Amino acid sequence: MVHKVGKSVDHMIEMKKSFHRNTENKKLIANAATFLRKNAKSMRLVNCIACDSKNYSEWAVVFGFAYSKCNQCGLIFMNPHPNKESLLDYYTLDNYAYNSYQSVNFNPATLKVKYECVYIPRFEFVNQFGNITTWLDIGTGNGEMVYSINKHTNGRVKSAGIDPSPDCINYAQINLNVKLIQSDIEDYIENEKLSFDVISLFGVLEHLSHPELIIKKLGEKMEKGSLLVMLVPVALSLSSIINKSNSDIIARHLTPPSHVTLWSEEAMKSMLSKHTFNIEGIWKYGQDCFEIFYYLCEKLDVKEKQRLLESMPALQDAIDRSGLSDEMIVVAKKY
Ligand SMILES: [Zn+2]
Repeated sequence: MVHKVGKSVDHMIEMKKSFHRNTENKKLIANAATFLRKNAKSMRLVNCIACDSKNYSEWAVVFGFAYSKCNQCGLIFMNPHPNKESLLDYYTLDNYAYNSYQSVNFNPATLKVKYECVYIPRFEFVNQFGNITTWLDIGTGNGEMVYSINKHTNGRVKSAGIDPSPDCINYAQINLNVKLIQSDIEDYIENEKLSFDVISLFGVLEHLSHPELIIKKLGEKMEKGSLLVMLVPVALSLSSIINKSNSDIIARHLTPPSHVTLWSEEAMKSMLSKHTFNIEGIWKYGQDCFEIFYYLCEKLDVKEKQRLLESMPALQDAIDRSGLSDEMIVVAKKY
């Protein structure tokens, strides 16, 4: 199995300067309260989402949401657990996708940085595992991954993307000249032919009520030898540890109701092997250094902030090498 560790965070420093932890934190608390008012009654206790074990312990409570940690596989999951309908309602009616993508005006300079530092490295990591000519990105958001694959390979790799949000579909069409498919993720997987060399879910599984059902379906429908690629937040990471210890002032990573699960390699292995996938590669990297920055920066003057920000790449490099990165990309092959 291929293990890769670390990714430069140099390109993110400028963006992080303007992050206001308290503003983000207040927004998250308000969202969480609204969600619980509407949905608390429909939330149920569940077994581990990845390995189905009943052997779990209470792990943390964030903004009124309890998280359990599986003692078998290390998955951290919201428990009592929200159902699919309540999360769909949250993402559509509460304009999650709109807030994530559309409120940021299209900026070619930002896209160029993300193209070079996020999307192409992702593509190249996956590209080492097979001869790739077709790629479907599920839950693609604003279509930048699809755009990047097409541009980077001069159209040699035919990539397509689906997303439930009409705002994202419009954004991609207007700004990137990319035609995405608007569809519910589960409906698409259920009803469409899935003959692609690669199917990716970047930052999707953690938002779903039952990601294991999607993986099961993909296992039934994907072609033998094709690749399934997932980017997920990591359970045992420095960010998780910081969030757990300061659970009233969280602004990223462990953010209910949108992050329902945080993953371990063991949890991935357990879920994927049940549904006919073998893990071929894992790339762990993260933004834990910015988690530290958010907690330290509130009272600092401009010079101190700047000095701290300059130290972020070296700090993240050390965190990545220690194994505590907060994100991982998992590449699995269908057998
Ligand atoms: Zn488990």
